[in-house]
Amino acid sequence: MRKQIAAANWKMNLSLPQAEELIIALLETDHSLNDHQLAIFAVPFPYIIPVKQMLDGRQNIFVAAQNCSANKNGAYTGETSAEMLQSIGLKYVLIGHSERREYNHETNAELAKKVNIAMEHQLQPIFCCGEPLQIREAGTQNSYVETQLKESLFHLPAEQISGFVVAYEPIWAIGTGKTASSGQAQEMHAHIRTVLATQYGNEIADGITILYGGSVKAANALEIFGQPDVDGGLVGGASLVATEFAAIINSLKK
Ligand code: PEP
Repeated sequence: MRKQIAAANWKMNLSLPQAEELIIALLETDHSLNDHQLAIFAVPFPYIIPVKQMLDGRQNIFVAAQNCSANKNGAYTGETSAEMLQSIGLKYVLIGHSERREYNHETNAELAKKVNIAMEHQLQPIFCCGEPLQIREAGTQNSYVETQLKESLFHLPAEQISGFVVAYEPIWAIGTGKTASSGQAQEMHAHIRTVLATQYGNEIADGITILYGGSVKAANALEIFGQPDVDGGLVGGASLVATEFAAIINSLKK
């Protein structure tokens, strides 16, 4: 069975004491992960090491960065390289979150470079894709997302995309309280899997984890994660509340 993942995206929230309190509360709240289930915390850069120290040794729980530079090293003030993330023992990094695409003007081509440099440093990208509202309203979301995948991922050879993690996040559902219906999520996830299968074959496409993101909360996670092609979620707002995120972890497919 492919990996099922509950991924938290804290974005630019919390002080360090609040972050520590959240992790402690979450660990104390009833949650369980079996062999093919992971919980991943994408935390702000200054908290990666302390949060990682709090979680080290916990089965199937990992910390992720929310971004990495497309460049290897050098005169890029304010940037963080994949090599740095690898050197502190990280295994996951978010690439191409819609907020970075919008506010930092990250293009599909630049994201392809980030994917490459992350993989060169044994970091598994959690590659985010998803359409804005006007594209959804025009009904062209399938080709929009397909282009994002093709331009940022399809240069990868089969062995590198095997076991990959994609997060489909319709922009109109992020932080808006508006969730895609479970039917809309399943439809796009099935489309993404078909696009992956056309490029890489059914076996590889079946092994790729596709997360849904966009106002996931305890109240809707079970229904969304229950869809056949939805393998968990990337969660913003609700990941800042221990009881909510614990319930979201518990909603992963068994
Ligand atoms: C996100 O940050 O990726 C996200 C999906 O946010 P929210 O759950 O708050 O919509």
